[in-house]
This record gives sequence, structure tokens and C-alpha cells, in this order.
Amino acid sequence: MAEDEGIITEILAGTHALIDLDAYTANIQALRAAAPHAELMAVVKADAYGHGAVYCGHAAVAAGCAWLGVARISEGLLLRSNGISAPVLVLGPPNLAEITRALDANLTLAVGSRSVLDAVLGVAAGRSSPARVHIKVDTGMHRYGFEPHEVCDLFARLQSHAGIAVDGVFTHFARADERDLSLTDRQVAVFSDVVASLEAAGLLPRWVHQANSAGILIGRTVGSNLVRSGIATYGLDPSDELPAGPYFTPIMTVRAPVGRRFTLPRGEGVAYGWTYVAPETEEDAVVAIGYADGLPRQLANRGWFSANGERAPIHGRVCMDQTIIGAPPGLAEGDLVTVFGPEREAMSLNDIAAIAGTNSYEIATRLMARVPRIYLQCGTPVAWEQPLLGKRGYCRS
Ligand SMILES: *Cc1c(COP(=O)(O)O)cnc(C)c1O
Repeated sequence: MAEDEGIITEILAGTHALIDLDAYTANIQALRAAAPHAELMAVVKADAYGHGAVYCGHAAVAAGCAWLGVARISEGLLLRSNGISAPVLVLGPPNLAEITRALDANLTLAVGSRSVLDAVLGVAAGRSSPARVHIKVDTGMHRYGFEPHEVCDLFARLQSHAGIAVDGVFTHFARADERDLSLTDRQVAVFSDVVASLEAAGLLPRWVHQANSAGILIGRTVGSNLVRSGIATYGLDPSDELPAGPYFTPIMTVRAPVGRRFTLPRGEGVAYGWTYVAPETEEDAVVAIGYADGLPRQLANRGWFSANGERAPIHGRVCMDQTIIGAPPGLAEGDLVTVFGPEREAMSLNDIAAIAGTNSYEIATRLMARVPRIYLQCGTPVAWEQPLLGKRGYCRS
């Protein structure tokens, strides 16, 4: 107990992320309500888009998600070694050298190319239980997946194969987050033809899925019994053309302490390059967060933090580990400012993405391992994680 309290106090005094598990659960409920006929796979790849895969994974399962999705086998192994026994699908092309490890850990593999299929069949031959796989179909993303016309034959061939158990068939949308849904509807039609022929041949597997967050939000889930969501579970927008909407709240807030408050005389600049020069003598503050924590350099002279409830503009360049802001009255050394989060006067991840000319996915996943995390339920810390140190734990209540 004392140790837990000590670590929480330490983390909260420095640069840290707060993850609101109640908001995460509410976002998951909103997605499930949007596709009530389907189970939900919470996609927790890339360390849950920078939110922490272990505790988000546990929370997603507790919120009723039937599946978790990851991109790499190692990400699935992390979930297993932290006590998550729910079905896990490795969505991307796997490292062929790790397939035995994946099967030992009861991970399900997405098979979407000849080489991956051959590797899985090769490994599966010597095993007592079959390798569980979902077959990926390329309906227009033109990334990973078999051609639609290959799929029926493939299923027929695999049916007689003792080493492999085909548990699912799926595809992925390329442009479901855009206003123009013509490609998405073409993909839906191609995939539903594949599904219909599998059904006619008596080869339809247990799980059929196509929609990502965008696909769920626009209702392209008919004919599926599983949907996959990452970005919307974290309360972030799939794109600026498709905001997640009013039922979704961002679950992460990043805060950092003021390391120095100082007077900047008129005509003096701050930080590398003096890209900001004080028009009048003013008060500035140094905040302990920089681009090495994941903050894009494009925020220089354009972004802002929330300090003492006020919008405090970023002055000059974002440095590797520090950023300077105009200091509102009363902001003292040691005080925390909000770098981003669902808080009045703070930037959102979507604001940051817009300024940096990218999407919320990239900004969220850039959050670096040296930013520790506190997980909150009912506003109270329930777990903590220091990724850089490889440490995490639940708080005893
Ligand atoms: C990452 C990923 C998802 C999740 O996408 P979101 O847009 O974050 O919902 C779903 N399916 C596949 C195959 C993915 O790679």
C-alpha cells in the first residue's frame, strides 16, 4: 500500500499521462450500441495507440469486448504474459520466425499471403492442436490479404487440413473515414460476395468482420458478427471528415510540471533559433515536455497548453525535452500544466494533429515510453505503468 501510494505521488508530480478507464468503457459501450448485432474487437496494437495495451486490454475485456486486436505477435505475447486470456487476433503479417511462439500463446493469426499461409502450415504440421487463423481478403485496401477470387478454393483446401482451423474471414476498409463512400461500398459488395460463396459452399467460418471505427460509425456492419475498433475506443476522430461524435470522449490527458518561471525582457527570444521574441517584457514558463515525449515540433508558436485554467501559448520551438509557454499570473514552478486532453482551454489530440498536418492516430502513438501513465476509475488511480522501466502495477484500495 505505502509503495503504491509512493509511486503514484512520484508519477503525478512529473510529466505523465492520465488514462480515464470510465471514458474508455463508455466509448466501448457506444460502439457496441452502434453495432448491436456484432461482438467488438478492441484494437490495442501500438501499445493501445499510446494509451497502454495491458490495462486497456484488461478494461476492454471487462467492458465486454469478445476479442482484442494487435499488429505484431510480440504485442499479443505482452497481453498473455499479463494475464489476458481473451481471444487475440494478430492483424498484420506476422514475423514468420515467431509463429510457434504465437501458437503456443494461443494467439489467432491473420493469414493474408501465400508465404504466411505456408509458414503457418509448416509450423502447424508438427503440433497437437490446430493453428487458429482468420483469412484476410483484399477487397480494395491493396495491402495484406488474398484476392477475393482465391478465397473459396483456399477455404476448401484448408478444410481438409488437420493443422489449421479457419475461425474467421475478414477485410479492411481503405476510405471509410471520408465523405465519399463509393470505394467503401464497393468493398462491402465484394466482401459480401465472398461471404455468400463461402456460405453456399458450407465453408463460412465462425467470425465474419469488415468494419474499423469509421466503418462502425457509418454503419457498414451488415453481415458481420464482429467489428474492430481502435481509434474510437480512445475517443479520437477517425479523420477530420469523420469526427467520432458526441458519444465519444478522449480518454487521455497529458500533464507536465513547470520547471522554471522567468521574466523575458522585451526584445529577447526563447529557445533554439529565437523564433519567438517578446514584443513587451513578459513572464514565461518552461514545461518539462518536448518532441522526444511525442509532442510534434510543428506546435512551435502555434500550439498552447492549459495553465491555471488559461490558454498559455507555446513560445518558440518545441525542444527535445522542454517547451516554453507564456505564463499566466499565479502559475508557479512545480505546478502542472495540461499539454492536451479533454479539458477546457487545453489542446485536443485532434487539434495537435491538425496543426501538425497529420491524424490523431500518429500523435497518440508517438507518445513515448518515458511518459508514465496513471489509470483512473471514478477519478481515482487504479493502476500505473512506467513503460521505460518496464514496471506496472495495480493500486490496492
Ligand atoms: C488498426 C486496424 C484496425 C483499427 O482501426 P481504427 O481505425 O483505429 O478503428 C482495424 N482493423 C485492422 C486490420 C487494423 O489494422
